[in-house]
Amino acid sequence: MIIAERKPINEILGMVRDAEKILVLGCRGCVTVCSAGGDREVEILASLIRLGMQKQGKKVETVEGSLVRQCDKEYIDEIDQWTGQYDAIVSMACGVGVNFIANLRPTVKVYPGVNTSFLGGSADQGVWTEQCAGCGNCVLHLTGGLCPVARCAKSLMNGPCGGSVNGRCEIHQDVECIWQSIHDRLGRIGNADAMHTIAPIRDWSTAGHGGPRKVLRDDLTV
Ligand code: SF4
Ligand code: SF4
Repeated sequence: MIIAERKPINEILGMVRDAEKILVLGCRGCVTVCSAGGDREVEILASLIRLGMQKQGKKVETVEGSLVRQCDKEYIDEIDQWTGQYDAIVSMACGVGVNFIANLRPTVKVYPGVNTSFLGGSADQGVWTEQCAGCGNCVLHLTGGLCPVARCAKSLMNGPCGGSVNGRCEIHQDVECIWQSIHDRLGRIGNADAMHTIAPIRDWSTAGHGGPRKVLRDDLTV
């Protein structure tokens, strides 16, 4: 899922400083699961905005709402139920949601309430870790299912850099050297020889370096 974190309240207050009626809009997708932008976080942020503005001597009304997803055109239309009740939206969806609202509602002011962090998973209660960088050309079949693009600090494709110590990455002791883990795991699953395969120079154009990407499925388009 997409992992996000709420922006600092002072940053959000700065964005909405001229607004008098604010729709704080959650998303029931990834940001609900990672506790960044679901109903509970909408309620908390709306309250923080009111209090923050009050401290600055400004009066603001907040409306609280959530969409099933903000990354789907059909659900964005549901924003219209609040038409006239707001002059700015603070979206608590990931950046996709903010973009979708901006794309589909050209005259609406929309601001990001969260920082979209990465594609990851819940490793423990309250802990999320990055697992995939959405590179568009997955190599997990060659690396024992562990991602060198997202999880190696240098995104190395041909083994470790040589800086790791005791299985930890040279950038920080808290970070595993994923190439050590790839090596160990390939050995455990009987595929140690894969470490000797030289990966060719990688074409990073699928990773977004060639501009915004699109997936078009002929079997699903009408
Ligand atoms: S190789 Fe690319 S697609 Fe596969 S997990 Fe890593 S970043 Fe994601
Ligand atoms: S120590 Fe390992 S994870 Fe860290 S940059 Fe080097 S190869 Fe990558």
